[in-house]
Amino acid sequence: MGILSNKNNPDKWKNKYFDLLDDNEELEKTHKTKEELLCKTIIRLSLATTGFNKQLDPHLIRIRKQLKNGLKSEQLKLELDKFTSALIRLEDTVADDSLTDASLLFEFLFHHFPEQKKEIQYIEAQYEKKKYSNSQYLIVAINDLIDSIQHIEPISEQALDLRAQSFDSIDVEAINSQLQHLLNSTEIPAKFEDQAEALKQNLANTPSLTSILDETISLLVKIKKHQQSEQEEMARFLGQLTEQLAELGIKASGVKSTADARSIKRNLLDESVSSQMLELQNSSKSATQLEPLKQLIHSRLDNIAQQIQKQRKHEEIERKKAKQELESLSTKINAMKQESSVLNKKLITAHQRAIHDPLTGLPNRLAYDERFTTDMANWKRYKTPLSLLIWDIDLFKNINDTFGHKAGDKTLILIAKLLSQHCRETDFVSRFGGEEFTMLLSNTKVESALESANNIRKIIEKTAFNSNGKKISITISCGMTQLTNMDTSESCFNRADKALYVAKENGRNQCVIL
Ligand code: GH3
Ligand code: MG
Ligand code: MG
Repeated sequence: MGILSNKNNPDKWKNKYFDLLDDNEELEKTHKTKEELLCKTIIRLSLATTGFNKQLDPHLIRIRKQLKNGLKSEQLKLELDKFTSALIRLEDTVADDSLTDASLLFEFLFHHFPEQKKEIQYIEAQYEKKKYSNSQYLIVAINDLIDSIQHIEPISEQALDLRAQSFDSIDVEAINSQLQHLLNSTEIPAKFEDQAEALKQNLANTPSLTSILDETISLLVKIKKHQQSEQEEMARFLGQLTEQLAELGIKASGVKSTADARSIKRNLLDESVSSQMLELQNSSKSATQLEPLKQLIHSRLDNIAQQIQKQRKHEEIERKKAKQELESLSTKINAMKQESSVLNKKLITAHQRAIHDPLTGLPNRLAYDERFTTDMANWKRYKTPLSLLIWDIDLFKNINDTFGHKAGDKTLILIAKLLSQHCRETDFVSRFGGEEFTMLLSNTKVESALESANNIRKIIEKTAFNSNGKKISITISCGMTQLTNMDTSESCFNRADKALYVAKENGRNQCVIL
């Protein structure tokens, strides 16, 4: 209404307009000053905080660059959002083993490979869910994705130019910083350490992103292949190791011994081997590098093999010693056996001699005593009749006197032979002493014995004895009796002896029963 009311006063409206313009200019000036001040403050702040944390640095660099080209609130808001989420992630990192910030890397990938947005989003989601055990696997996944793209459609010159242009438009320094960080958090095998170090230097010096990205990816591909071959070699090596251990087990059990002393030593060896094996198991579980593990296993296996070798040598010595002792013992036993056999034979001979008459070879008086005791025991048990006969050569003294002692001996030998020949096998004949002989007829009544005694007596009577061609006539007398309930060996013998006396008294060459 004010402006309209000044319709008739155009200068006033004009003045008012200029005043407004001045006000506006003044306001703009103030605003510009404040904006510059704000930019400077933020830049200084970012400069002051750069270097405190490597993950935040790329974001600070980007914010600074944004502000240098003037304050564009939309873009600045986006950068500040990213900075805030990186900061939150950083706070989480303190609490647990959290993820390395890779947001700028993903932003680069989205920008650079828009057709693969879904795949990259998938990788990012996997990364956020901590599906990759370390940053290296993330890079490998990205590399696989890029590989697959390159395999599907080779990049044209034009596309490469476009990519180069797009590289120019993005923040190379920030991405390099994140790549550096990822390389730092990747476990680099010793073989690739120099290469990785050179790459990190290059990333720090910020050359062209294309070559660095290619170099980083090619290094990571090499690392991946190296790790695959390491894994294959590890599997092969573990296979060999298992065989070696099985062989060691066979060797160890092959020398197993049952001897107590040895089994104690064996147990000690087993314990030592077991503990070394356990140590190996633990070492191989925690091992990340194959070469040191191989060396450790080899040295442990050598150690175990040496111990088994030592044990085997020791057991071999012990075995030889035991064998020698056994052999010497066996020799001693054999010698003793022989000795005992000789002694036994001597004993038998001595006993035979002791119970036999050397002249006639007949059992002697001692043998008669033994036999009588046995026969008497049998008689008591079975009540079978037992007859005792005492033979005495008639007038033997005359033979000695007439033909000599030697002729007498020969006569004794001949009589002994005739007595033995003409009795039953079960009958027992002995030379009792001098020219007297006894006969024990088991299971024979004295009446029946008389018949065979007279038979023998007649044979002797008819036998032609001679000495130097001279005929010698020999007769023999016999006293006989049968064992009775009341008898002792003496009473029985005395009765037969009395019968012999009677035979002599009655004219000799006869058998008498009492
Ligand atoms: P009788 O008919 O009464 O028995 O008379 P005899 O001569 O046979 O009895 P006597 O007891 O008088 O003599 C036994 C003799 O036997 C005496 C002894 O020299 C002899 N004589 C004993 N043993 C042996 C011997 O082993 N060899 C020889 N050649 N003679 C012996
Ligand atoms: Mg006599
Ligand atoms: Mg006589």
